[in-house]
Amino acid sequence: MWGFHAFAQTNTPWHHKKCAVVITYDDAYDQQLDNAIPVLDSLRLKATFYITAFSNSMQTRLNDWKKIAANGHELGNHTLFHPCNGGKGREWVNPDHDLSKYSVQRMIDETRMTNLFLRALDGKTKRTFAFTCGDMKIGDSSFINAMKDDFVAARAVRNQMHKINEIDLYNVDCYVVNGETGRQMIEWVKEALETNSLLVILFHGVNGGNALNVSLQAHSQLLHFLKQNEKDIWVAPMIDVAEYIKNYQSGKPK
Ligand SMILES: [Zn+2]
Repeated sequence: MWGFHAFAQTNTPWHHKKCAVVITYDDAYDQQLDNAIPVLDSLRLKATFYITAFSNSMQTRLNDWKKIAANGHELGNHTLFHPCNGGKGREWVNPDHDLSKYSVQRMIDETRMTNLFLRALDGKTKRTFAFTCGDMKIGDSSFINAMKDDFVAARAVRNQMHKINEIDLYNVDCYVVNGETGRQMIEWVKEALETNSLLVILFHGVNGGNALNVSLQAHSQLLHFLKQNEKDIWVAPMIDVAEYIKNYQSGKPK
């Protein structure tokens, strides 16, 4: 324990940097390939793409997704069919993929099938998960507990940021982007810098694809700010950051 405390004194706990930022994109949209990837690649920043395996974009542009994985981006697991709990206020949920009608085992099976699919694309045996619609339970039953050996971490959707010793790896918080300007998102990064926190940013649409959208300009402004401040900010895919946190919390920092 003393080793952990000695290490916790520093204000640069993230690979000797002040904070960590993980950029994530959910649901696998064409716009992420066409509008986000060129900016990320031009700045040599790596992100995590939480893939819904049976999405339209996967069905039509499988090789493009394979290519981004070969280029160092993480393909995270965002299930096979994107099931979400239906019911009041969730009338848009497809009844065939209503999570509240799933058994826990069905969710586990579909999620493991997605891991197998992603492994066929990128060859990786370690990856992270993102809860669909932020739903962590079927009724009262958690399903992630049974899958802790399948994933290093799981991302939720609460708008919060935490210090490295306060992070629950199977409930990693994130900031959901919904029309923010570049300046607004940069404020989140500044807060992470000041508090030595992990900031996870969640994009859906990038100039289209989903109603939860970001403009090309705002997206580009944020990424350029991250690049310009790289000496203080560790930008990496979720899998790398999660493994680092896991080592840190077990008292074995890299
Ligand atoms: Zn989603």
